[in-house]
Amino acid sequence: MDNHNKKIIENAFEKILKGLENNVDKNGTKDTPKRVSKAYDELLSGYDADINKVINNALFDVEYDQIVIVKNIRFYSLCEHHMLPFFGKIDVGYLPNEKIIGLSKIPRITKVFSRRLQVQERLTEEIGESIYENTKAQGAGVVITAQHLCSAMRGVNLPGTEMVTSSLFGSFKSDPSTRKEFFDLIK
Ligand SMILES: [Zn+2]
Repeated sequence: MDNHNKKIIENAFEKILKGLENNVDKNGTKDTPKRVSKAYDELLSGYDADINKVINNALFDVEYDQIVIVKNIRFYSLCEHHMLPFFGKIDVGYLPNEKIIGLSKIPRITKVFSRRLQVQERLTEEIGESIYENTKAQGAGVVITAQHLCSAMRGVNLPGTEMVTSSLFGSFKSDPSTRKEFFDLIK
């Protein structure tokens, strides 16, 4: 985010606090617009990230033709409908096609897409598609289990309720036994 955009967000939060004028502690919130703007810059840093730079050619030739799983990747994102957090865990699997990707790269890819305004379904698709295409794998799959504060703190008020989404690519989609192995491995 450049300084111009940061300033726009800062000004907007000044207005929000004005809308609450009689109720907020003006002393405590004096620097809040600036702090919120800075926080959004970090929470939404995925817009500025370049996936190729993140992967940085960390693809290695290996003769390994079994499913690779990276699971329990913790994440935080903001829903695009309420700009409230949703968070939980991401499980990723892929079936390599001569190339494997550096282990640390998968969590970093999940960060690029989660640090944007998202819906859980699209987040799941984008991570899966990115891993599938960048590794040129035979197949890939992503499962996200998350709690949404927009339905826990407000609205239907359902704390603790989890939403599960999955997206499957290549042989994970087309081959029932590969798919089953993937779901068994992340259980
Ligand atoms: Zn929401």
